[in-house]
Amino acid sequence: MALTLQLTPTIIARLNFMANDPWQERLDAHKLCAAERTINLTLQADQLTRVADLLIEATTLSFSLAFSYNAQRQAQVCGRLWGEVVLQCERCLQPVKVSLDQVFHWGLVATDEAAAQLPKVMEPVLLDQGRLALAGVLEDEVLLALPLVALHESVDCGALVDRSLNTDPAQVPVRENKHRPFEGLAQLKKTATTKYE
Ligand SMILES: [Zn+2]
Repeated sequence: MALTLQLTPTIIARLNFMANDPWQERLDAHKLCAAERTINLTLQADQLTRVADLLIEATTLSFSLAFSYNAQRQAQVCGRLWGEVVLQCERCLQPVKVSLDQVFHWGLVATDEAAAQLPKVMEPVLLDQGRLALAGVLEDEVLLALPLVALHESVDCGALVDRSLNTDPAQVPVRENKHRPFEGLAQLKKTATTKYE
């Protein structure tokens, strides 16, 4: 999948002012590539500011980032992210667990010209004076890994259980302030049942 990382100079400047969290440190990318270092990180998903708003509860996400140079001496990261997030089901508005497991391949570059030289499979990530501001780039990866629409499997979805013909309405917990498009239908059903008694 082709991803475009919108790391504009403004965003990079903003990241430079971030608090002193170890994982938000700006890393010396070329040193890591030369040493072929692998960084493994586990963090609370709600530490990712742009992801936090989408989460119902905080879970941990894991990242593995392998730094190296490719045959063309381009700095690269072969990475993977995995873990579980709890989002809101867009059908029944209850929490739904979603497993993430995504690989990515970054080309670490200093300029847009260098970014244009990268093989198509590599996503350009702009360095600021050789430094990689990890937080923003990892956030981008998580946002891209999230489903466009979070939904329960039909058997687990509260909204579909509500609609099931076998469900006794008395057993279904009432959720307040909820738009119930099928209420009219339930009413009709009740009337029909009464008729046959
Ligand atoms: Zn649901």
